[in-house]
Amino acid sequence: MKSDVIIIGAGAAGLMCGIEAGKRGRAVVILDHASKIGQKILVSGGGRCNFTNLNIQAENYLSANPHFCKSALARFTPQDFISLVKKHRISFHEKDDGQMFCNGSSRQIVDMLIDECNSAGVEMRLNCKIQDITKKKRFIVKTNSGMIESESLVVATGGLSYPNLGATNFGHRIASQFGLRVIPPRPALVPLTFSRGDSEKFAELSGISLKASVNCRGHEFRGEMLFTHRGLSGPAILQASSYWENGEKIIINLLPGIDAHSIFLSNRQSRVEMKNLLSRYLPRRFAHIWCEFYFSSRPLCQYNEKDLLTTSRLIHGWSIKPAGTEGYRTAEVTAGGVDTNELSSKTMEAKKVTGLYFIGEVIDVTGHLGGYNLHWAWASGWIAGQYA
Ligand SMILES: Cc1cc2nc3c(=O)[nH]c(=O)nc-3n(C[C@H](O)[C@H](O)[C@H](O)COP(=O)(O)OP(=O)(O)OC[C@H]3O[C@@H](n4cnc5c(N)ncnc54)[C@H](O)[C@@H]3O)c2cc1C
Repeated sequence: MKSDVIIIGAGAAGLMCGIEAGKRGRAVVILDHASKIGQKILVSGGGRCNFTNLNIQAENYLSANPHFCKSALARFTPQDFISLVKKHRISFHEKDDGQMFCNGSSRQIVDMLIDECNSAGVEMRLNCKIQDITKKKRFIVKTNSGMIESESLVVATGGLSYPNLGATNFGHRIASQFGLRVIPPRPALVPLTFSRGDSEKFAELSGISLKASVNCRGHEFRGEMLFTHRGLSGPAILQASSYWENGEKIIINLLPGIDAHSIFLSNRQSRVEMKNLLSRYLPRRFAHIWCEFYFSSRPLCQYNEKDLLTTSRLIHGWSIKPAGTEGYRTAEVTAGGVDTNELSSKTMEAKKVTGLYFIGEVIDVTGHLGGYNLHWAWASGWIAGQYA
């Protein structure tokens, strides 16, 4: 069979690329080894798909080259995706910080993309196992359902996280096969785990969540933080995890926006116990257990100046050294991937290999939590769809 464009991966980026290339009149076939289209879109945003963010900027992305994503983000904006959602009469709402969610279900976004693919004449082959890829003048892709030849090959195989949803390192292997550098991948937006000692020490905190500010290597995120039986999770931790490296500490401000020392000074003469005073600002169970770890809770009037200063510093700068992360099984995304220096930021085409494109999470561009990763998939897919 002959085609103009073969896209590997029927996820967010691959579908968007297929729609755009199809609209240009290109004969497009999308191949996926999974039995369902857009599985990660379906589970995204807790089933409601946080499909974009109104505040998208290059600063919301991690990459060895922080400038690479700028061109795609400028050319395909959140409003562009919202227009598509409106065209399909999908109702949506803005949650915190510009995060856009479906009112109904993520299924609506997948159906919308399938609908657009059908209108653009895109062929879709599921359960398609790719056995071999070669390139002479054209690409030749051998699959369990026959051989396909094409002028362009677009790799949209995503990252390594959630292997149970079909994630593989196939895209990285294709890059290596064609001599393109891959930045070592690592789990990102992932819960952090405690060391064995901390695990035992903090076991009683499991299930508690509180609002904190978490700093990792100078990157600070404010939001909910959750104690799990293995470590720490919740949005603020997931965000910080993308910057975390083995052996690093994270610094947690337990009372962001509140000056603990001033509170202590204004209760200096009081007989209220420290753990009860802290319970006014933190979950009671947390305040009580946490005080036991670090000092014996006494009435405020029994603390001297130095103790109060030390305690307030601990509250605003609680330092924890995670043992690791929960890994790809629960990581929302994969950081690292195909080195952006190998690709044109204007087209997503490999500089060394004419007709070979990489889009979406397989590239070394990783978004913060909040709709940024899907938006990168849409934007990079849209761009490649104009040229592939
Ligand atoms: C639980 C969860 C929730 C998330 N929620 C959000 C959210 O609300 N908002 C947000 O912005 N981001 C969210 N993300 C991240 C977002 O889903 C991904 O970044 C995005 O889907 C990446 O798009 P992609 O097209 O690059 O890859 P994917 O959507 O992962 O698609 C890759 C496709 O390639 C296929 N494939 C892989 N290997 C092969 C192979 N060897 N042969 C053939 N096909 C192959 C896969 O089956 C898959 O269909 C979430 C991720 C997870 C895991």
